[in-house]
Amino acid sequence: MVPKIETTRHAIAIAIEQLDKWFGTFHVLRGVDLTVKRGEKIVICGPSGSGKSTLIRCINRLEAFERGRIIVDGIELTDDVKRVDEIRREVGMVFQQFNLFPHLTVLENCTLAPIWVRQMPRREAEEVARHYLERVRIPEQAGKYPGQLSGGQQQRVAIARALCMNPRIMLFDEPTSALDPEMVKEVLDTMVQLALDGMTMVVVSHEMGFAREVADRVVFMDVGQIVEAAPPREFFDAPRHDRAKAFLAQVL
Ligand code: ADP
Ligand code: MG
Repeated sequence: MVPKIETTRHAIAIAIEQLDKWFGTFHVLRGVDLTVKRGEKIVICGPSGSGKSTLIRCINRLEAFERGRIIVDGIELTDDVKRVDEIRREVGMVFQQFNLFPHLTVLENCTLAPIWVRQMPRREAEEVARHYLERVRIPEQAGKYPGQLSGGQQQRVAIARALCMNPRIMLFDEPTSALDPEMVKEVLDTMVQLALDGMTMVVVSHEMGFAREVADRVVFMDVGQIVEAAPPREFFDAPRHDRAKAFLAQVL
């Protein structure tokens, strides 16, 4: 049976309160507050080094943090490994470098975690995987190895692989930054489709066309802080902060 995209159980999908994080003595996140509602699409942008990756990596505990709270679909993130596992079940993540297993086929990449982490029977896992490969429009690549695919196709496999775990929230960290320009659109189209399906999404991206089309809110970060958060029209047409204006002048 192929699962439907499930929405978060709580009206607030992610609540980040007064988050502080240090790398040694370097204060990388400074009092970050961010609330993501069920079904909401957030695009995070900002200069390189501003803490965007670190922030979204904190959400599924790929990074620890020193101060503040993160609550994902009603579950508070603590050091408790069981809680971390519970949250990782809810949250799928797609990285800039697709991170596929090179020695496994596309289908095996997609079924590995459902079979070994979720104890899903292989046949069912394969059915689910084929469903999502169809959704990202590469069902015919199922038997190939990642190295035989283009970058855009590999990134679509990475998205399908994340969806096979049936997450309620998807995090994307610059998913198109490593792609040749002609492949960016096919990946963004997949993400637009996912947004239309009602997925809660937090996307670090400088694809401003995508942000305009899909985002409910654009969040601008600089030196570890959220400087501005506004609906795309407001953010692009009338940014309030000088740092946001300077950033937009560079990327638009
Ligand atoms: P962004 O994604 O906005 O480019 P990052 O979150 O990757 O920014 O990084 C924010 C800052 O933290 C940068 O100055 C980066 O060099 C530093 N940083 C990131 N990861 C580590 C780490 N593991 N150890 C030390 N410093 C790090
Ligand atoms: Mg980054």
